[in-house]
Amino acid sequence: MVLGTYKEIVSARATDKQIQKVAQDGGIVTGLLAFALEEKIIEGAVVAGPSEKFWKPEPMVAMSADEIIAAAGTKYTFSPNVMMLKKAVRQYGIEKLGTVAIPCQTMGIRKMQSYPFGVRFLADKIKLLIGIYCMENFPYASLETFISEKMGVSMEMVEKMDIGKGKFWVHTQDEVLSIPLKETHGYEQSGCNICLDYVAELGDLSTGSVGSPDGWSTVITRTDGGDSIFKQAVEAGAFETKDIANVKPGLDLLQKLSAQKKEKNQKTIDKRKEMGLPVPF
Ligand SMILES: Cc1cc2nc3c(=O)[nH]c(=O)nc-3n(C[C@H](O)[C@H](O)[C@H](O)COP(=O)(O)OP(=O)(O)OC[C@H]3O[C@@H](n4cnc5c(N)ncnc54)[C@H](O)[C@@H]3O)c2cc1C
Ligand code: SF4
Repeated sequence: MVLGTYKEIVSARATDKQIQKVAQDGGIVTGLLAFALEEKIIEGAVVAGPSEKFWKPEPMVAMSADEIIAAAGTKYTFSPNVMMLKKAVRQYGIEKLGTVAIPCQTMGIRKMQSYPFGVRFLADKIKLLIGIYCMENFPYASLETFISEKMGVSMEMVEKMDIGKGKFWVHTQDEVLSIPLKETHGYEQSGCNICLDYVAELGDLSTGSVGSPDGWSTVITRTDGGDSIFKQAVEAGAFETKDIANVKPGLDLLQKLSAQKKEKNQKTIDKRKEMGLPVPF
């Protein structure tokens, strides 16, 4: 299945105006972690927080809604959130943990839960794993280089970055700039070329922008836990939802992009195998 195993797919956005203002898309990640914290489903969450360098995320353990909100927005580079899970449990004493992860990190977390070498104490404490879609990612130096050199903007001027409609967008206080995505090719990390997961198939639920209109997200609920927490949040009024069948561009585009990623990267895997190079599959 091109979108992995799932229970339901809807288009949704957070109703909280403060979250809408800072979120990348529909504020599903921020809204759901904040809801789960308030309902004591989790006691804290590992998120990609700000660091001293503009747009370079640093994993952080958020214990309040304000800290979760401070980490909203997509940073198009790595945030090693998985490393912080151990610290969240060992040093912060969190028994019920939430987190957000790109597909490869989601795989790492599930593997760690299935084969808990040295992390047995952590495996059963992850109560909410929110996956975010990911087509590719950039090392920080690459991101900085193409934004400053190709787009002529310094990192501290950037207020939002976004990928959509075949372009990489940068918003500053005064203008919105874009370059065709093909100009960012070669800057992505090479490991992404053998990645077969677009929609975080192993999350409790997954979310991304593709399929839904601006300001909304496409939400895929997958596990009993993920489905139930999301439904509780909708019932409590934290999210408004629309049937995905009634929104444009809808599921067709999501399925198409996921299939394209799998096919293209499978070819790279096959080629690497032919050449005798190691691939982790
Ligand atoms: C590298 C990358 C590539 C992506 N590619 C796509 C794509 O092709 N198509 C698509 O539909 N969506 C993609 N997304 C997801 C999308 O940009 C949004 O993150 C997602 O829709 C969640 O939006 P939101 O409004 O619910 O999140 P918000 O409420 O704004 O919260 C975002 C959450 O993501 C966390 N986060 C931010 N950056 C990272 C990071 N680098 N690693 C881990 N966690 C992070 C933050 O801590 C925060 O908790 C990508 C995200 C990343 C990080
Ligand atoms: S494309 Fe795959 S390997 Fe690369 S960052 Fe995204 S999920 Fe990870």
